[in-house]
Amino acid sequence: MKTYNYSDLSKSDIQSLVQRNIDPANEIRGIVENVITKVKEHGDSALLDFALKFDKVELEKLYLDKEELETIASAVTAEQKAALEIAYNNIYKFHAAQVKAEDKVETMPGVSCWREMRPIEKVGLYIPGGSAVLPSTFLMLGIPARIAGCHEIVVCSPPQKNGKVNAFIAYVALLLGVDKIYLAGGAQAIAAMAYGTETVAKVDKIFGPGNQFVTRAKTIVQSTTTTAIDMPAGPSEVLVIADESCNPAYVAADLLAQAEHGIDSQAILVCTSQKIAEEVLAQVEKQVPVLPRAEIVKQALDNSYIVITNTLDEAMQFSNAYAPEHLILSTANWQLHTANIINAGSVFLGNLTPESAGDYASGTNHTLPTSSYSRAYSGVSVDSFVKKITFQHITPDGIKNIGPSVEILAELEGLHAHKNAVSVRLSPQTSAK
Ligand code: NAD
Repeated sequence: MKTYNYSDLSKSDIQSLVQRNIDPANEIRGIVENVITKVKEHGDSALLDFALKFDKVELEKLYLDKEELETIASAVTAEQKAALEIAYNNIYKFHAAQVKAEDKVETMPGVSCWREMRPIEKVGLYIPGGSAVLPSTFLMLGIPARIAGCHEIVVCSPPQKNGKVNAFIAYVALLLGVDKIYLAGGAQAIAAMAYGTETVAKVDKIFGPGNQFVTRAKTIVQSTTTTAIDMPAGPSEVLVIADESCNPAYVAADLLAQAEHGIDSQAILVCTSQKIAEEVLAQVEKQVPVLPRAEIVKQALDNSYIVITNTLDEAMQFSNAYAPEHLILSTANWQLHTANIINAGSVFLGNLTPESAGDYASGTNHTLPTSSYSRAYSGVSVDSFVKKITFQHITPDGIKNIGPSVEILAELEGLHAHKNAVSVRLSPQTSAK
């Protein structure tokens, strides 16, 4: 990992350090556009072709039904089921608390306004399955979709080498009451859910993280179809802020947990001394060799770096510029710094709060904005699966109170039909009818 001194970095140095997953030659866009066009034109047969090309699997059919999922899920052990159920319960508890009815507001006498939540009817969930299969992502998307009350939940996940999904994905499907999984991955899965094919239904909104092909496809279909997306949630990243009170072994473990996601993952350490940087690097050296995904980790670390600052305030400035998906404050006095966090997807506080807890089971959602999109996007929540519809009601007194102001405002905009829609209600002749 390269090391930089914050005080030596110019504004433009910082700008180029915080940039990630850009596609300057539009290589990924080109591949993804071609995949989308093929799925749009050839539907299911394109999905079968891409499964063969990218996933190296010749599929007989494009989905697994409930019976097949039950057979696959029977391989999950009692201990694994118990762990998945603890995660399910905690995620459910945290997300259920997000559902709150809003108060009606009387903005002036006789004029009432309020908002009500309605579920998005058809949602599509993408569960990544390229370099690692992520049943945890299925829980993170399926639970808020169920709480929101979405009527139709379409699920796509790349086929594994045996042409199926793994047992944990199948078990989570059963926990969530999902009785079909489509065997499609990458940009082709996103295109299928945005345009619909003979077997995959078109959905209103697509959710889920994925690699650069998946993320690019989501951003393209959101501007070319009527299907919305949750957010750009691409290759995962963490930024750890550490001071003298950190435990270097814990910090190294957190950086490596991120690096094992994929070679395009980033793990950034921002610390307040050279000594901390050296201690963490020594721990990284010690911990990497025993990891089964050491090769992926090493490549991800080549793409990662350390920034040394003079103070924790400077560290926070860098973090806000980076706008990380995950932010860990490995410092005893984290309470003094949370108010200064402006851009981050999800935050882990203190030395005993590993990101892994939030990735799996503490309750918060792990589908989060990456590549600095946490400047403007939030992670997935129940809100992502609903619309908030506004309502209003005006009484006879209310129309008298608000009407004259509306008439004046409509007139000043030159919109006479708007004015008249109020005037007919205020006029004694027409309002009596
Ligand atoms: P994936 O399911 O996203 O992608 C696999 C698919 O990519 C394959 O099925 C294939 O169709 C397609 N593909 C692979 N190579 C291709 C090529 N050369 N051309 C066209 N398509 C190709 O699985 P993954 O690759 O393991 O990536 C998962 C990603 O999700 C990781 O980057 C991880 O960091 C990220 N992630 C992000 C979050 C978040 O909230 N932001 C959460 C979990 C995981």
